[in-house]
Amino acid sequence: MAEPSIFTRIIAREVPATIVFETDRVIAFNDIAPQAPVHIIVTPKTERYRDVVELAAGDSELLAELVSTARTLADEHADGEFRLVFNTGASAGQTVFHVHAHVLAGGLGEGTLGSE
Ligand code: 5GP
Repeated sequence: MAEPSIFTRIIAREVPATIVFETDRVIAFNDIAPQAPVHIIVTPKTERYRDVVELAAGDSELLAELVSTARTLADEHADGEFRLVFNTGASAGQTVFHVHAHVLAGGLGEGTLGSE
């Protein structure tokens, strides 16, 4: 068996995190290194899917749940508008291979892509 991902360890409460949303299938917590005033990680509880491409092919309903969770969080923590980022692959910046979305909101500057 592979080691559990850091997000699985957060889900299991083995690693502390500020959890802001949770259902039986999805969890969301503040990113440990925020890149925006609101920076929340939304991830399925299963670590079966490594990235958004695998998730879309394997369980499109679960992907839709991540998106609707992002919307809920942006309503609760910002003005309802948000940027949703799925880094996909190491060269694109992915470091945790347990699919997750970054919900960025609350004042993102004027750029439309990237952080600046
Ligand atoms: P990726 O680079 O894979 O797209 O995103 C991984 C994200 O997880 C990064 O933004 C990183 O800051 C965040 N992260 C990594 N380890 C932890 C942790 O232990 N706790 C929390 N809350 N976030 C983490």
